[in-house]
Amino acid sequence: MPTFEEARKIILDSVAPLCVEKVEMLDAVGRVLAEDIRAPWDMPLWDNTAMDGYAVNSKDCGEAASLKLSGCIPAGGFMDHPLQAGTAVKVLTGAPIPAGADAVVPFEEAEERDETVFLKGKVKPGDHIRFKGEDVTEGETVLPAGTVIRPSEISMLASFGRLFIPVHRRVRVAVLSTGDELVDPGEALGPGKIINSNSLALAAAVREAGCIPIMLGIARDTKDSLREKLAEGLTADVLITSAGVSAGDRDYVRDVLEELMVKQVFWKVDIKPGRPTAFALRDGTPVFSLPGNPVSSLLTFEEFVRPALLKVMGFRKVLRPLITATLREGIRKKAGRVNFLRVALEQKNGEYIAWSPGKQDTGFLRTMLRADGIAVIPKETEELKAGDRVEVQVISGDGGFMEA
Ligand code: AMP
Ligand code: MG
Repeated sequence: MPTFEEARKIILDSVAPLCVEKVEMLDAVGRVLAEDIRAPWDMPLWDNTAMDGYAVNSKDCGEAASLKLSGCIPAGGFMDHPLQAGTAVKVLTGAPIPAGADAVVPFEEAEERDETVFLKGKVKPGDHIRFKGEDVTEGETVLPAGTVIRPSEISMLASFGRLFIPVHRRVRVAVLSTGDELVDPGEALGPGKIINSNSLALAAAVREAGCIPIMLGIARDTKDSLREKLAEGLTADVLITSAGVSAGDRDYVRDVLEELMVKQVFWKVDIKPGRPTAFALRDGTPVFSLPGNPVSSLLTFEEFVRPALLKVMGFRKVLRPLITATLREGIRKKAGRVNFLRVALEQKNGEYIAWSPGKQDTGFLRTMLRADGIAVIPKETEELKAGDRVEVQVISGDGGFMEA
């Protein structure tokens, strides 16, 4: 049975980014660039003024200089002849610097009267000029493959005149629930029946990870039903199933996967909760069989599936931010397995305090709702005391945003 770390490494080593697609600029936000992007030209394109002011030659600007005003270049304008000695040209922010000028004197540092500009202070070459190629040089790789596209990346790409961006394709993830006890939301609940909440929960997690969920519905606890649904699921990029992977009489998921030529990589991981998690592959298509318990299925999705999906989408950093937090109360556990503790977090004087916001038994979904993080308690630890420090993966819905 692999340890937590081994299982995650096996999974991440088994998956690779999907092929590339070219998408319109706005569809690329939050996705990963699949090719290096070089600058097609210098940025800025030409020397231009950073201020509204007067373009001058600094050599003309000794003590208490006055210069004749010889023209005006607005943004979008252009002067086709050089600046004449002893003159200044009015330039508005962004306008090209005329040949012969080497500095800009902002309006605030000059006075204009009767077509003459009186300078108030000293002028140095280069003052208030944004130089050609100062930000980006033509041919330079500005955005390497693997960059996550944010509005700032869009801004750079738009300034290169691009309409489309090569990104890794979104992953299509089939989601299948299994069990004779399940009815879908909206259907009548009979005796012994429960609502299939896992399909929607896992599909939501898939979508939150930026992938496309494909809802396969429910397979019953028969080999025929499982065969049909699992075969359908294997046409997606990734298949996730829930329940039916324990050692119960009707836990056929693994058997039927094997019939369908899916090779089991591991079954059961040394973790709590989530031990009966299985991972398998068919021709590179990953299949995750998660436990049926709603808390366990979401936790194992978080620990194993989400990082894999992100890797397939081209992300290089696939794990949640880890913080160190101080426990408000002590905890006890058995040695031997990594335990995942659902914790609430609070920041006090720059330090995180963590505590259990409810019962840790997997029967309590409420504790999951109240959790801002998952504390990862090492395998061999048996006891932690109040004040001890733990590592916590941050999963809060507000993603670390602050109150206004
Ligand atoms: P199993 O892994 O089949 O032993 O299921 C473990 C527990 O999870 C049982 O209490 C099931 O009723 C519950 N369960 C299984 N599948 C789902 C589902 N799709 N939605 C909600 N609960 C489920
Ligand atoms: Mg079952």
